[in-house]
Amino acid sequence: MDAWVSVGRDIDRVVGKFHSSQLHTSRVCEDLSAELSRLEAELDSNPDAEISTTQRLMLSQTVAKVKDTIQKIATEHRELHSSVSKVGKAIDRNFIADYAGATSEAALSGPDKERLLNQVICQHFFRQGMLDIGEELAKEAGLNMQLDRKEPFLELNQIIEALKHKNLEPALEWARRHREKLQEKASRLEFKLHKLKFLEILNSGAGSQLAAVKYARENFPPFAQQHEKEIQVLMGAMLYPLGSEKSQGPYGWLSDSTLWGEIGELFTKDACALLGLSVNSHLSVVVNAGCRALPALLNIKQVMQQRLVTGVWASREELPIEIDLGKECRYHSLFACPILRQQTSDSNPPMRLTCGHCISRDALHKLSNGNKLKCPYCPMEQNPSDARRIFF
Ligand SMILES: [Zn+2]
Repeated sequence: MDAWVSVGRDIDRVVGKFHSSQLHTSRVCEDLSAELSRLEAELDSNPDAEISTTQRLMLSQTVAKVKDTIQKIATEHRELHSSVSKVGKAIDRNFIADYAGATSEAALSGPDKERLLNQVICQHFFRQGMLDIGEELAKEAGLNMQLDRKEPFLELNQIIEALKHKNLEPALEWARRHREKLQEKASRLEFKLHKLKFLEILNSGAGSQLAAVKYARENFPPFAQQHEKEIQVLMGAMLYPLGSEKSQGPYGWLSDSTLWGEIGELFTKDACALLGLSVNSHLSVVVNAGCRALPALLNIKQVMQQRLVTGVWASREELPIEIDLGKECRYHSLFACPILRQQTSDSNPPMRLTCGHCISRDALHKLSNGNKLKCPYCPMEQNPSDARRIFF
């Protein structure tokens, strides 16, 4: 943060200098051009006469002035250069350019990992709707991307694109087709789409109420129970002429454009959930997580280098410190053994004792005495071989 502030200050200074120099230059140029016009008028006033001594003097003085001014402007401009290069130096000083220390080359080398990386990038392109780029990459990288990996994205992207242009039809058709599954997930998507369609009809101008009522009668019944209150509000909205922008009464918020923004997000979320896809592409999740973790990783690397313990990191797959990436980056439940105070792993999994308490397998072995184990919590005596592994 300090780095941002410090570089930001330098940039502000340069921008300020640019502005003042621009102002000054244009003022000087205007003055100069006014003077030249005056001189021109003076010379034009009597075109047939020979140039007088005074005029000659004026001419040479003006030329000298023009030369002088141009030189001054050039010097000023040169000074700007040094200010700009100072910003570059400030960036170098405040930010770390070498990230090599925080990466592990082995993580992405080898044909298998390369293929996985290409696959993830390819999927990202498909997700973004850049099908041709994804296909080209798949071809050049020799990937065998199945069509079923592409098709859901193709349809979703078309629908989202249509929603961006306020075209509800493709989304409504999709929601209708997946109604049962959406309802299983208690999704509000289809109703929200109908709600927008209803408002669109109502907003289409005076006398649109009848068409809106007809739409509501045809489409709202399946949602009447779950969304009773909202439907009541929508019916109330019909009393106010929504078509005119000024008099929307207490229902003005219904024509808010945020409703359109929300529907795109809701569609992406629910459609991805339904198709068993993550909302964000794997690539963007990994890149975002990496960006967030980078400052902490660089710090710890520096500390390790100073204390000459660099080998610790390279020899283990785990990071030497815990980095919190926020709630949205938590995908798996974690269990830390209360005895060893360590996160459980495949080599040391969590075990459930017969009394119901849970500790790690290493702790279980440490606490066992032959075929006897006293639970450290309750403390029930039991046979350690009765403990069962837990899978989260
Ligand atoms: Zn117990």
